[in-house]
This record gives sequence, structure tokens and C-alpha cells, in this order.
Amino acid sequence: MADGREILYFDAVQHTRPDSIDVRQLPDRNVNSEIRFDRLLGEWVVIAAHRQTRTQLPDRTQCPLCPSRPGSPTEIPASDYEVVVFENRFAALPGVSTHSSALADHVAGSAPTSPTEKSGRSEVVCFSSEHDTTSAQLGVERTRMVIDVLAERTTALRAMPAVSQVFCFENFGAEIGVTLSHPHGQIYALPFTSPRAAKIEANARRYRDEHNRNLFGDMFAAERDSGVRVVCANDEWTAFVPTAARWPYEVLLFPNRRVADIPELDDHARTRFAELYLDVLGRFERRFDEPMPYIAAWNQAPKGAEDFWWLHLQIFSIRRAPGKLKYLAGAESGMGVFISDTTPENVAAELRAVTP
Ligand SMILES: [Zn+2]
Repeated sequence: MADGREILYFDAVQHTRPDSIDVRQLPDRNVNSEIRFDRLLGEWVVIAAHRQTRTQLPDRTQCPLCPSRPGSPTEIPASDYEVVVFENRFAALPGVSTHSSALADHVAGSAPTSPTEKSGRSEVVCFSSEHDTTSAQLGVERTRMVIDVLAERTTALRAMPAVSQVFCFENFGAEIGVTLSHPHGQIYALPFTSPRAAKIEANARRYRDEHNRNLFGDMFAAERDSGVRVVCANDEWTAFVPTAARWPYEVLLFPNRRVADIPELDDHARTRFAELYLDVLGRFERRFDEPMPYIAAWNQAPKGAEDFWWLHLQIFSIRRAPGKLKYLAGAESGMGVFISDTTPENVAAELRAVTP
């Protein structure tokens, strides 16, 4: 791209794009991200103030994720594409320099192993050149292609020595804070293990040490045996509402056989994922009169946890009822105590009952 960012096209059939030249005059990439360590919580925080200026829900004629047209260049120089990945112009993570906050210098001991400089990376994944479609409407073939792309990017980004965890996700709906409505997802190659993954890793490791068993596997088997919170399933995947769901609508998609990450999924498991994922998204779309906003977050093994981690996708919505959103208020934002307005068993029954 004109400012030196990398762009990658993924096509069902290989072809060249002679028209794919970025003719824009782009300003220098203004990326001043810092990763700071919160000593009290033992968690990393990304400070990325340059993102304040990022594009906010532009008119569709100004969409930066649509293909370029003569006289209207976008982020994708080509006149058409299938799936495309490029480095985020308003990246949270590239070129990060590390500071364990100033205070840390006065606190005994030092932060855990620091991420090295320029170690993270933020990418955008466009699922379709069609502005007005949604992930729920992509169809099995394209959804499967997106999974292949995420697998390829995960492999490439994990190979970066400083990357600890590759986080692929999609935000959907203005209520979630989506700034561009064009169907797309994002990938954060994190130079540290995220707080959620670190907690899960520690619990699963302790369980293994104490019981010589797999925590994910035991929890998943219990869900399948009981079935009360299972929403739908096929021969490769099971979708269920977790026992202690935090969000009004929350579903986990587990592969029936353990794999650590997306690249480890075989051909059949990827296709069957696409089918079940579209089924779940359809239920989210039709549960209320208007499609539910959602976050779809891939939980892949952080480095070092590959031998026991169980890949899963977490899909959740902040919609708790028509016209009502769940806000993270005092209990949740202040103390991290989630108070749910729904019961997981009812939510599972409601989602099972949504007609195709
Ligand atoms: Zn668009």
C-alpha cells in the first residue's frame, strides 16, 4: 500500500490484479502505541491514542473497505476482491514500544518478560467486496474461505518470535462500537498473552497438575452429557451456552475433538464449522426483530499452552431484550463482577427454538 503497509488477496482461483496499485498520497503512519503493564492487576494495557482520529461510520460511498473505483480510491486498490487482509491503518499494535508504567520503576521487582519493540501487528480481514452483506449471509463456501484465511494468518503471525497470542475477532453492529459497517473482522497479533487467555491457561494448567485431566475436555463433556445448554451441534462442533455465561446472549462453539488453534482444524472440521457458525449467527439474527449486535472472538492457544488448550469461538451479544442493551456498570466495570439478566438454560432454549 502507498504508506508501506502489506496487503494480501485470497482468491478461490488464483489470478493477478494489474489494476491493484495504490495511487493515494497517504500521510506517514502515525502509530505511537505503547504497551504498559498494570502492576496491581498483572495485566498489559495498550495505549493507542492515535486511534482517536479513525474513520467513524462513514457514508457508504466513502467506505474504505469497498473496492476502489476510478476517482474513489479506498484501502483496497483492486476493483474487486474475494477476501483481503491488510495491516490496519489505525493499528493498535504495530511498532509498539514497551513501558512498564513510570510507577513500575519505583516498585520492587520488574514487569514480567517485556514484549520486544515492534512486535505486535493489527490486521483487517474483509470478508466480501459487497458492502451490504453480513457474516450471517456469507454462505458456507465464503465462510469456509475466511476460516482458511484466518488459519494462514495465524500460522504466519505466530511465527513472529515476539507474538504470544493471535486473536481473531469480529465486531458486528453499531451498538458494539463498530466504526465501519462493511463486513470485516480483525486480527491482533499480541506481543503478550491476553488477560482472559492467561487466566484460562493458568486454571487449565493447575487442573492438569492436580487431576491429570484436561479442564476444557471435562467441562465440554459435561455440557454435552447434560445437553440443557446445547443450542445446536453437528459431527464436528457443538454450540452451547456456558454454565456461568456473563453476557445476556453468549454461545461457545467447541470442536468435538481437541485442537489448539485454527490451523490445526482439518478440512472437514473447517467446513462443518462454517455450517454451524452460520446456524448460530442466524439464530442471533432472528431472535429479535432486529439482528443482535455481537462479538465473535476466537480463543486460540497462547504460545506455551498448545498441548492442552482447546480452541473455541465465543459469540456474545450485549442485547438483553428488544431495545435494551446490557451496560457494564459498577459491578462489572468497577469490580469485574458480572451480573446476568438472563439464565443460560433459558437462553439456550430460546436459541434452540429460533426457526431457521
Ligand atoms: Zn464497503
